[in-house]
Amino acid sequence: VMGVSEGKKNAVTIDSAHADQAKVSETFSEIQAARRSLPAFKVRSELLQIIRDNQVVIVIGETGSGKTTQLAQFLREDGYCQEGHMIACTQPRRVAAMSVATRVALEMDVKLGREVGYSIRFEDKTSECTEIKFMTDGILLRETITSSTLEKYSCIIMDEAHERSLNTDILFGIFKNLLFARRDLKLIITSATMNAAKFSQFFGSAPMFTIPGRTFPVQTIFSRHPVSDYVESAIVQATKIHLSTPITSGDILIFMTGQEDIEATCEGLHEKLSEITARKKLESSNLSEVDDILILPIYSALPADIQGRIFVPAPNKRKVVVATNIAETSLTVDGIKYVIDCGYSKLKVYNPQIGLDSLQMVPISMASANQRSGRAGRTGPGVAYRLFTEDSFFDDMYVQTIPEIQRTNLSNTLLLLKYLGFSDLMSFPFVDPPPEQIMLSSLFELWTVGALDNFGNLTKLGRQMAAFPLQPALSKMLLNAAQSGCSEEVLTIVSMLSVPQIFYRPKERQEESDQARSRFFVPESDHLTLLNVYAQWKANNFSSAWCRRHFLQFKSLQRAKDVQSQLSMLMERKSVPIVSSGTDWDVIRKCVCSGYAHQAGRLSGLSKYAHLRNGMEMRIHPASALFGSGDLPSYVIYHEMLLTTNEYINMVTAVDPFWLMDYGLLFYNVSRRKEDEEDITLYAEDRRQPPKDSIDLEIERAVMKKEQ
Ligand code: ADP
Ligand code: MG
Repeated sequence: VMGVSEGKKNAVTIDSAHADQAKVSETFSEIQAARRSLPAFKVRSELLQIIRDNQVVIVIGETGSGKTTQLAQFLREDGYCQEGHMIACTQPRRVAAMSVATRVALEMDVKLGREVGYSIRFEDKTSECTEIKFMTDGILLRETITSSTLEKYSCIIMDEAHERSLNTDILFGIFKNLLFARRDLKLIITSATMNAAKFSQFFGSAPMFTIPGRTFPVQTIFSRHPVSDYVESAIVQATKIHLSTPITSGDILIFMTGQEDIEATCEGLHEKLSEITARKKLESSNLSEVDDILILPIYSALPADIQGRIFVPAPNKRKVVVATNIAETSLTVDGIKYVIDCGYSKLKVYNPQIGLDSLQMVPISMASANQRSGRAGRTGPGVAYRLFTEDSFFDDMYVQTIPEIQRTNLSNTLLLLKYLGFSDLMSFPFVDPPPEQIMLSSLFELWTVGALDNFGNLTKLGRQMAAFPLQPALSKMLLNAAQSGCSEEVLTIVSMLSVPQIFYRPKERQEESDQARSRFFVPESDHLTLLNVYAQWKANNFSSAWCRRHFLQFKSLQRAKDVQSQLSMLMERKSVPIVSSGTDWDVIRKCVCSGYAHQAGRLSGLSKYAHLRNGMEMRIHPASALFGSGDLPSYVIYHEMLLTTNEYINMVTAVDPFWLMDYGLLFYNVSRRKEDEEDITLYAEDRRQPPKDSIDLEIERAVMKKEQ
């Protein structure tokens, strides 16, 4: 714990590569001065008054005005943490929850995890004395299971509500009732201007409070021609800015869609500037374009300490922050003058007709584009370069991003709602109701995995599944494994599937790392490959040096270990036995099959599979243990599908068609079932329509029709 003397330095760790730019750190008094200069600080007392007078308040303010970092502190100072009460502040993103908690702990001069903490799935950094808890909205939703009135909280701040994340939307519906039961509970919804009026209306005309803020004009420049490679264009644009303006004029923020294009942009930009510097050196000029720039990526899978670097001041250098849409509203980096926007983002999209979830690259909305541009005008006039044409802005972009609830698979959410006792989902107060097709398709999926009975009620299995913070496929697999005697192994697999990137594949050592990876392969299964990696890591005493040698991400494995221990505690609490199958790995594959029977494919032609239910053509992802095998199995199940130029299936396991018959009884039939398994062919008997006696589903359908 740090001392309390004013003026002491708060250490900021910087990795050795940046050690040259000194250990820059803010003093406590500097931090307090910065706090006082925020727009939110100027309206502190009015804000607290309106919260005292109302149960629900919508707080609107420009990004960077201090909503996220200040509001919870104001409330604490105003006495909302007395008698052991806590203040909750939800974030749609894990990165934001961690980053903001770290910042607020620093501002309050306390150790993270004590008075200020955070809680995200599988990671709880809070303690007995925590007063302000930052958390993902998913965690708060889960907390309503164990504490339906959320007793321990005096205030709940739903931050970034304009993002309309699925969990935030669901929480709104739950709060609608909860606010009656808890008259003393304060609900504060913070939002950028979009959607604010809608929230106010939803909560019975709750007052809207706007934090006045000052922004500067931003000049937006559209691309004149359609851009074919936005990574390349972004590199060119950033280089141009860097070379043509003094570095003190301002920093650059580049919006990309995810880890891959962010890394490509960072590397490309570094390369380009190195080349230029090298050329200049030949011409014996002593300018060094690459040394005075600091290129900083930010995306969710990035370790927290590296994420923190974007906030470290870098005097005499130009920062280039390359970010996902997390920098759109959640995180504010001061000093940005130039924005470069690729115009796309990655969205999870669900197709209810074929029952498939996929991650897709889609054009952002106009609202997002404007929000992104606005990031250039926080501290002075700025410029936003859009890597798309003005025509595509008006023709290809929606005015607003479609809320998640209207475009993703809802089976997990509906399972939770049923578990919470909302038996009639149609009467649930949605801010915007999901489309009927998605609703039905998600209910149908729950029914096919056995979580709902024919009347739409939760089954025993469904109740058990709801208790686990996992996708239905994974919780089903885990529960099945407990009965089949391999839950220890399946627990490891599930934990490994819940963390990002196990294998490390640096650009310059791809071949070497691919070889290292292939040494772990279990030829018939990526799931078993994961199990194998974990088992060997364990046999090597969970060593980090061992991970480095084998091109494995130590941090990810460590996280998997944490997830495993958390899930095993949950299993113990729910009396789900943890048993090992020893050397018998076939029973594990069978359990894996039980979770994914609805996501199966049959070999059709060279290295291609046909989706068993809809015939869609799928290829095995190059990273899979099965990729390139000369002897591909006839039937496989897969964990996820990626839509790029081809349909790739990722995390694949070979299965016996008889298992598919057993677990996928609702979908599949067999043309000939002989003892000789070579001789059978499964075909889809895809009964998208629930059977006649599925009354509840039918009723819900009818009610939905009527309401429209
Ligand atoms: P809002 O939620 O209204 O968008 P924030 O509370 O996130 O605003 O940010 C207020 C100010 O705090 C901004 O100037 C931002 O740059 C600064 N800030 C936020 N997080 C950090 C951090 N981790 N390090 C340094 N400054 C930060
Ligand atoms: Mg914020």
